[in-house]
Amino acid sequence: MLPGWGRNGRAVQVPRVLGTRTAWSTVGDGEFFCPGCGGDRNYQRLTGRRRFTLLGVPVLPRGETGPVVECAACRTHYGADVLDHPTTTRFSAMLRDAVHTVALAVLAAGGCCARASLETAAATVRSAGFDDCTEDQLGALVEALAADTGRFFGEPCGASLAIELHEALDPLAPHLAPTGREAILLQGARIALADGPYTPAERDALATVGAALTICSDDVTRLLATARTPS
Ligand SMILES: [Zn+2]
Repeated sequence: MLPGWGRNGRAVQVPRVLGTRTAWSTVGDGEFFCPGCGGDRNYQRLTGRRRFTLLGVPVLPRGETGPVVECAACRTHYGADVLDHPTTTRFSAMLRDAVHTVALAVLAAGGCCARASLETAAATVRSAGFDDCTEDQLGALVEALAADTGRFFGEPCGASLAIELHEALDPLAPHLAPTGREAILLQGARIALADGPYTPAERDALATVGAALTICSDDVTRLLATARTPS
């Protein structure tokens, strides 16, 4: 029977005479942020084999295509670089960890862990998403850090803490707008100021925070001065 007409003379979909068809096969899956439907979705990673078709029938292989990432919700295809963008869940976890690490670094640099510093730090960390963070927990962590890395109290930001800061902040920085990066530095600055003016060690820790957040040193200086004057 000629394509084009069904049994009862009703029109059926006519395949294009010549074309290409891609047969997709799944090579992986996971969760990603879909820019198409705007949220955390499951995806499948697909590679395709293209075939030249005659009347809808695959006749000649036309090579590999892909890999592409397909959203399970809206079925949009993306290049693999769409996976570089963190999911919203991952992004909030990164942000929360970043604030927690900054708070610890500033407290450790401050040395004696004054009550006012611990209270400001715990409130900051709670509002970043660690709902049950307490002053005592933070104090215990700072002590454990000091015991683990040797005494760095009152000294410039310890090397291991600088590494921690870079690990927490480097992957986050490219996904934050400038105001978001500045907000993290300012939160650190307010913890440092809770027990009085910046000490040299606190300035040093905050400079490391700024550098990891790719804020230039002039802006770090300006922001640290801004934090000092309550607005
Ligand atoms: Zn989607």
